[in-house]
Amino acid sequence: MNLIDTVNQLWTQILEVTQIFVMPDWGGVIGLLPVLVVLGLIGPFITFTMLGALVYMLRKPRVKVAFEEGPRVAEIGPGGDPVYPVGLPHCRRDGLVYPSGTLRCERCHDELAVTCPMCGLGRSALADTCSNCGLVLKVRPRAIAVRPTTGPKPGGAAAA
Ligand SMILES: [Zn+2]
Ligand SMILES: [Zn+2]
Repeated sequence: MNLIDTVNQLWTQILEVTQIFVMPDWGGVIGLLPVLVVLGLIGPFITFTMLGALVYMLRKPRVKVAFEEGPRVAEIGPGGDPVYPVGLPHCRRDGLVYPSGTLRCERCHDELAVTCPMCGLGRSALADTCSNCGLVLKVRPRAIAVRPTTGPKPGGAAAA
């Protein structure tokens, strides 16, 4: 009898102690919930957004520099005839302008023509030297190097 009373008393004390301990603790956790939600959900979201922005910023210049692939339709001039950009291969039959380095038309499989940047004379895109002015138009993919053949040759001064 005495023992049961003691146990009951002890149990009540334990419950009271746990109530004091647990209740404010849980209340604190619930109070911290918005903070935890912010840290747990919005935190990674902000991190991913910043990472995404960083990746976008890093990739953006490459996208800007990217060249247009494939042929495009030549612009029509005031005379009603298509105007071809100087130095770019083009097909007069289809009115298409091709990126530098293209030699044959994708549509009619004919040789492409190139207008000389120096004298304006048209010639085949297969020939890299102008028959009229001798300008060498090296057609490399995505790059045009214009080098006139007139003038001192490299290495000429060293040989003299
Ligand atoms: Zn063509
Ligand atoms: Zn020329």
